[in-house]
Amino acid sequence: MADETTPVAVAPAPTSSAPKPAAAPAAKPAEKAKVVAPAYRDYPTIPALKFDAMVESNPYVAAAAHNESVGFPGTLVDGWEQKAVAKMGELLGKYRSLRVYMDACVHCGACTDKCHYFIGTGDPKNMPVARQDLMRSVYRRYYTLPGKLFPRLVGARDMTKDVLDDWFRYYNQCSECRRCSVFCPYGIDTAEVTMAAKEIMHSVGLGHKYVNEIIGKVHKIGNNLGLPGPALENTLEGLEEDVLEDTGAAVKYPLDMQGAEVLLVTPSADFFAEPHVDSLIGYGKVFHAAGISWTLSSKASEAGNFGMFIGNYEQMQKIAMRVREAALELGVKRIVVGECGHAWRVAYAFWNTLTGVGAGANDPFAIQLQKQLDPNYKQPSHICEVTWDLIQQGRLKFNKEANDHRIVTFHDSCNVARGSRMGDYAGGQFDIPRNIIRAVANKYVDMSEATTREKTFCCGGGGGLLTDELLDLRVKGALPRMEALKEIVDRNGVNFMATICAICKAQFTKVLPYYGFKMGMVGGVHQLVSTAIVLNSEQ
Ligand code: SF4
Ligand code: SF4
Repeated sequence: MADETTPVAVAPAPTSSAPKPAAAPAAKPAEKAKVVAPAYRDYPTIPALKFDAMVESNPYVAAAAHNESVGFPGTLVDGWEQKAVAKMGELLGKYRSLRVYMDACVHCGACTDKCHYFIGTGDPKNMPVARQDLMRSVYRRYYTLPGKLFPRLVGARDMTKDVLDDWFRYYNQCSECRRCSVFCPYGIDTAEVTMAAKEIMHSVGLGHKYVNEIIGKVHKIGNNLGLPGPALENTLEGLEEDVLEDTGAAVKYPLDMQGAEVLLVTPSADFFAEPHVDSLIGYGKVFHAAGISWTLSSKASEAGNFGMFIGNYEQMQKIAMRVREAALELGVKRIVVGECGHAWRVAYAFWNTLTGVGAGANDPFAIQLQKQLDPNYKQPSHICEVTWDLIQQGRLKFNKEANDHRIVTFHDSCNVARGSRMGDYAGGQFDIPRNIIRAVANKYVDMSEATTREKTFCCGGGGGLLTDELLDLRVKGALPRMEALKEIVDRNGVNFMATICAICKAQFTKVLPYYGFKMGMVGGVHQLVSTAIVLNSEQ
C-alpha cells in the first residue's frame, strides 16, 4: 500500500519577497528535463501574461481506427469548415444555454484569473473568457448579422485551419471544471463551451486519442483500463485474501453475484491502482460491517464516463447503458457509485434520463428498472452517502486512533463540488465527505476557503487531460492546489490529502513530487474508513 506516513519534505513557506522555486521534481529523468513546476507565488497574485506560453501543448490526435471505433469520421473530412459551422448551428439550436453563453459575455474580466491553467501558465488564451472567444469569434461570423456584415469590427473570424488548431490546442487545456463560472456574474459556463467545441471537432474527424481510445475500450471490454472479467476476478480474490490476513474478517468482494442488494459501480482504477484500491477495500468493509449484500459487475466495471469529456451524449448514453443492463441482469435493488468525480456527475445529473436509473427515461427497460429498484433509497447513491447514513444510524464502529498517524485535509473534486450534490440539501457534497473523515480520524484541517468547496481548484488532470503528453500542462495547472496544500503542510503538518475522485488521485500521485511532496500523501476517503473501521471477524 502507498506509504503516506513518512514525514513530508517541502520547501519553506513563501515569504513576502520574491517567490521561491519549488523543490526539485522527483520524476523520471526524461521528464525532469522538460517539465518543471512553476515557483510558488506570493499568494494570491495574478500572473504576468506570457503570450503563447502553451502554444506547443497539444494532446495526440486520434488515429482513424480510434475515431472510427467510437463512430466518428477517421480523419478530417472534406469540407470540414462548412460541416463544423453547421454542427455549431445544430448545437446552438439544441442547447439554448450555448447560445446564451455566446451572446451574454460583457468581457468584464471577472473570470480571467480564476482558471488554474491560466494561473499556472500565464498564457492569456487560458483565461476562461479568451477560451470562450475562440468559439465566440466564429459564432459571430456565421450566426450574427454584424459578424456577417462587418466581421473585423466585431472580432468575427472565419473557420480556418489556424482557428481549428487553436481550438484543438486550447479547448484541450480546459478540464471542464466550472470554477470560472462560479465567478461570472452571468453564470457563463466555459466547460459547456469547451464540450461543444470538442463535440464539433470530433464530428468533423479531429479526435482526442487518449479519450477515444478509452471510450473504445469501454465499449469493447467494459472499462477504461481494458481489464477483462477473469482479471477482475483474480484481483478481487487477492483482495479477499489480503483483508482476511490483515483483519481476520472474511470480507467478500463479489463479482456478478445474482440477487445482491447493491450493485457497486466504481472507476476501474479502484481494481488495481494505488491508492485507489485502498478505497475499494474500504467499500467492501463498509458493506461487510453493515451486513449489506453487494456485488461488482464485469459488464459495468467502469463508473467513469469519458463521453462527457467530449460533450457527446450518444457516447455518454452508450457507456451508461452498461450499468442499466448489469442492474437488470443481476436483479439488484440499489445502485451505488464509488469514488469518482465525473462518474458521480454523470450518474447524478444524467443517468435518470439516459438510462432510467432514477425517474426519467420511459422506455420499457427503464420502467422495468424503476420497478426493480428500491424506492426507499436514493437511486443512484454515492458511496459516501451510504457510509454517512450507516454512521448516523450507528451501524459502523471505528477506532479513530488507527488514523492518528495522519493529519488529514480534503480536496473537493470539481465534478462533485460544482456538477452534483450529495444528501438532501445544497452543500451536502461538501459536508458529507468531511463528516465521514471526522468520524474516522482525529486530526483534520481544511485548506484555505478560497480554494475549497464551490471554489475548489481542479487537480489539473480532469476533462480528459490525464495523459502523459500533457504532463507539463497538468503540472502547471496543479499550482493553485499545491500552494493551498503547502500552506497547511507548513502550518499544521498535514500529511494526507483525501479526495473522492479517481482522476484526482492519479493526477496528484503524478504531480505531487514536482512540488516537493510525497506521492503517497494522497488517498481516498474510504481508505481512511478502511483503516479505522472495526470488523467483526465472526461475520
Ligand atoms: S466573468 Fe463572465 S461576463 Fe465576465 S468576462 Fe468572464 S465570461 Fe465574460
Ligand atoms: S479549466 Fe475550469 S476554470 Fe479553466 S476555463 Fe475550463 S472550466 Fe473554466
